[in-house]
Amino acid sequence: MEMTLLGTAAAEGWPGLFCKCNVCMETRRLRGRNLRTRSSAMIDNVLKIDLPPDTLHHVMQYNLDLTQLRAVLFTHAHDDHLCATELQYVGPWFVTTPRLDKLHVYGPPEVKKRLECELNLQQVPIEIHVLAPFETVEVAGYLVTPVIARHDPSQICYNYILQSPDSSRILYASDTGYYEEETWKFLEGFHFDAVVAECTNGPTTSDYTGHMGVTELLQMRRRLIDTGSIAPDCLYVATHFSHQGGENHSGLEAIFTPESVVTAYDGITFAIPNKSKASSRLQYA
Ligand SMILES: [Zn+2]
Ligand SMILES: [Zn+2]
Ligand SMILES: [Zn+2]
Repeated sequence: MEMTLLGTAAAEGWPGLFCKCNVCMETRRLRGRNLRTRSSAMIDNVLKIDLPPDTLHHVMQYNLDLTQLRAVLFTHAHDDHLCATELQYVGPWFVTTPRLDKLHVYGPPEVKKRLECELNLQQVPIEIHVLAPFETVEVAGYLVTPVIARHDPSQICYNYILQSPDSSRILYASDTGYYEEETWKFLEGFHFDAVVAECTNGPTTSDYTGHMGVTELLQMRRRLIDTGSIAPDCLYVATHFSHQGGENHSGLEAIFTPESVVTAYDGITFAIPNKSKASSRLQYA
């Protein structure tokens, strides 16, 4: 499985859309890996996680061909992950090469509600699937298991376990705070070849338990190692950063590199090797 993180920022982007803090001013000067767009991931060019408001930018920047997309997995219904109205352009009025099949979209109940509210589903060729927590479904040849994130108490938010047809397996953990025990219990016994985890708060701490910072991210990694879910050398990627964390890309790297954690930047691509085949708890029927 190959994954590209198309965007690696928290909700307002980086620089913050209307922010002039020191970090954002430095970002405007330095640019490069300090510039971060809203969160999304592409898997093998056929599966996409989330559809943020920066999707057209991602198409231009990475030369994406979204006509190849088989499915979109939505983590949750926050605006930086679900820009519902962009899906209207799948419709026949906006393309001269209409899709032969419907675009399948998956997510928690709130995502379905938002899509039904914001789109005319008579005219948009998408099929919405509501996923039940902790239940595995097959999507475009991948095994997809939503786990409950700790993010927004007013709605169900998912993180995803994804297993590709070559049996490589990843835990995609954004957006979330440090998991509740229910999710930890479910994860026990799974082995992952890679983890992508959010780190919205960076090195700062927050009273809001729905996001992680460096401390929680490292705690999460430690626990996954201790329960045998990942090897100490497992690819571990931190993403979904906010400028309010106070450190630019090089500052975040200075924190994470000694901890064997990769600091994501927009466009980072990694191949996920399959080492976990033997201890698989997800199997094809
Ligand atoms: Zn977010
Ligand atoms: Zn700022
Ligand atoms: Zn969110």
